[in-house]
Amino acid sequence: MSSKPIVYWASPIEVAAMPNTSKNMVTNNLVKTRLILDKILDHIRPGDKVGVKVHVGEAQNTRYLRPDYVREVVTAIKAKQGKPTLIETQGLGNNIENIGICEDYSICVGHRKNVEDHKKIAELHGYSDAITGASLYFIDGDEGIDRKVIQIEGIHFKEVSVAKKLFEFDKLVIISHFKGHPQAGFGGALKNLGIGCVSKRNKYLAHLDGLLKINIEKCDLTLCQQECVNSCPVSAIKVDGEHAIIDASVCYGCSHCMRKCPVEEAIIGPEMRKVPDFVERFIDNVLAVLSFGPKKIRYINFAIDIPAMCDCVPNASVPVVPDLGIYGSTDPIAIDKACIDAETNAPGLPFLNKDGEWTKPLEVGIEKFKTLNPMVNPAYQFNAAIKNKLGSIDYELVKI
Ligand code: SF4
Ligand code: SF4
Repeated sequence: MSSKPIVYWASPIEVAAMPNTSKNMVTNNLVKTRLILDKILDHIRPGDKVGVKVHVGEAQNTRYLRPDYVREVVTAIKAKQGKPTLIETQGLGNNIENIGICEDYSICVGHRKNVEDHKKIAELHGYSDAITGASLYFIDGDEGIDRKVIQIEGIHFKEVSVAKKLFEFDKLVIISHFKGHPQAGFGGALKNLGIGCVSKRNKYLAHLDGLLKINIEKCDLTLCQQECVNSCPVSAIKVDGEHAIIDASVCYGCSHCMRKCPVEEAIIGPEMRKVPDFVERFIDNVLAVLSFGPKKIRYINFAIDIPAMCDCVPNASVPVVPDLGIYGSTDPIAIDKACIDAETNAPGLPFLNKDGEWTKPLEVGIEKFKTLNPMVNPAYQFNAAIKNKLGSIDYELVKI
């Protein structure tokens, strides 16, 4: 018997849809989801509290995973007498609000940054109790700051602030929509763990090269009423002598202090990290999240509707390859590698350029996300994940 982890794969529709034939039904993606779930949900026992990690999609995004798939997962867990709850964390988007598109149209992004906004977009996208069959619960609290600090020996991090309420559950099912990502290269199970299951502090520390700093040359107590101190939700900032100081062990980068400070450049924000550094850091986050217990977690990747951009952006663009199918596994590296291999080996889809002409499709054997965005490389995730011993890059693909 192979020692490699198994990745179950249900390929996309193979037969043209004809109503009222039982043969046709096994080509239905929801039925295929059930077939994958039959293989992977062997970790659930009656009475288990099961956290089902989802991503409801950013406002204006139209490629996020449809809640119909989530409902299948919820139904399968209930059939095993588990108690499913959809779980999610708040998005980083502290600083982002309106982006002007043209003179009279702007879009507001960062809708998932707190519970109030996040719930609205979840409802709009159908992630409601009535549709999915389970309620949505924010495991890092209303503002994304509830955390449990986990010590690790990561590539960079020695401690990670994991979403605190993750540990209220007995088992986890990580549902990921496989697609591209402008910094991570792609989004799958690893990213759903390393960004999707940590509190804002470690989302911030992965994306940015440090926390906010007081510029003591500019900070001037005679020009303010210490608005920074009053605006900090976690009391990370105080006045010490002639200027404010920030306690870096508590700050989670919400930027409230910077927005409220009336003195220009008195508080300075960090820069975005370079892509490989960002990736290694969120893979460190995965190491901390897996302290939950790797054997208590199952992964399902939906490689359908696959644009180069992530569900966290307002404009996800058009798919770059055809649907690849639904994947299930116990191993977060193996399932993501199977999806990237399938994407690489798929023919690219043509799309219209700005002149309205069809582009030449990318060829079989070419990794599409990297080709479309040379700044990224899916190998960064796999290399870091292997360094942190998070699973296996080799896998056995079993077609359902
Ligand atoms: S950071 Fe701004 S608000 Fe805070 S003490 Fe300095 S000048 Fe005042
Ligand atoms: S960014 Fe400013 S307001 Fe936010 S936690 Fe840090 S010190 Fe407090």
